[in-house]
Amino acid sequence: MKNKLCVLGSINVDHVIRVPYFPKAGETLTGYDYQIAFGGKGANQAVAAARLGANVQFIGAIGQDQIGHTMCSAFAQDGIDITAIEEIPNQSTGLAMIQVADSGENSIVISAGANGDLSPELVEKHQAIIAQADMLLMQLESPIEAVTLAAKLAKQAKTKVVLNPAPAQPLSQSLLSLVDMITPNETEAEILTGVKVVDEQTAALAADKFHQVGIETVLITLGAKGVYVSEKGNGQIIAGFRVQAVDTTAAGDTFNGGLVTALLEGKTLSESIRFAHAAAAISVTRMGAQTAIPMRKEVEDFLA
Ligand code: ADP
Repeated sequence: MKNKLCVLGSINVDHVIRVPYFPKAGETLTGYDYQIAFGGKGANQAVAAARLGANVQFIGAIGQDQIGHTMCSAFAQDGIDITAIEEIPNQSTGLAMIQVADSGENSIVISAGANGDLSPELVEKHQAIIAQADMLLMQLESPIEAVTLAAKLAKQAKTKVVLNPAPAQPLSQSLLSLVDMITPNETEAEILTGVKVVDEQTAALAADKFHQVGIETVLITLGAKGVYVSEKGNGQIIAGFRVQAVDTTAAGDTFNGGLVTALLEGKTLSESIRFAHAAAAISVTRMGAQTAIPMRKEVEDFLA
């Protein structure tokens, strides 16, 4: 089957509560609008790719709890193959406690839970999925040893490795040298390269650092400004779409899912970026993470 995408990554249940301000140590504060949402960068990107038309197999882990099963059922409803989502005994599903202040700022505490048990052994167990995929998409909410092994297995099998290096953390040369395409945002690009990305020139400098470690294609997402894309040192900014943003949660995840989906269909890099920009632009006009991710038809109508 064509368009085979393997996503390896995290699954989190997000507990979101709005607060008038962030509580101080020892303070008890009453919040409002409590909501449970399905998130995790891996899951968001898998859902985005599946809704946008890719054939997605997900390697991930949930705990031994109801919410993990509920989320897996939702992934299956979105058309994701969930056979490589492992249930970890005596563990809980990953979760994020998110406070959103009236100022719009957020404050997040994550419990990795089962995501932390996505071990190299589990990656090995599912190596056939990686080998048979055309592309492997990963983020950094899973143990780095597992991400590194998956990248190695992909490289051996000529499966393209796309890394969304989020949340930001310094990475070894040996992992970076296995990556074909990297998609940091400005903050992540700065942490990985030491270059503060503020404009096209600095984006080009950061992109060069990634090229120097052997990464062929670099996409630095620039929020509402779009993306700086550089292939083997030839770079440019491709602007995004102007929309009324209400919540940018999962914009990057939707962008990544859309990008790989379009690339797997044989679209050019710039066509794929346009498709990903459209999907991400729609997502920022809606509240939430997975709830905000559009279906392919919506993106096609948006682009028509
Ligand atoms: P992240 O969510 O990882 O920080 P960015 O904020 O850079 O990622 O956004 C990723 C992509 O989402 C952008 O390249 C763009 O396509 C889209 N996007 C983000 N914010 C907006 C916005 N305000 N308006 C339109 N598109 C946006």
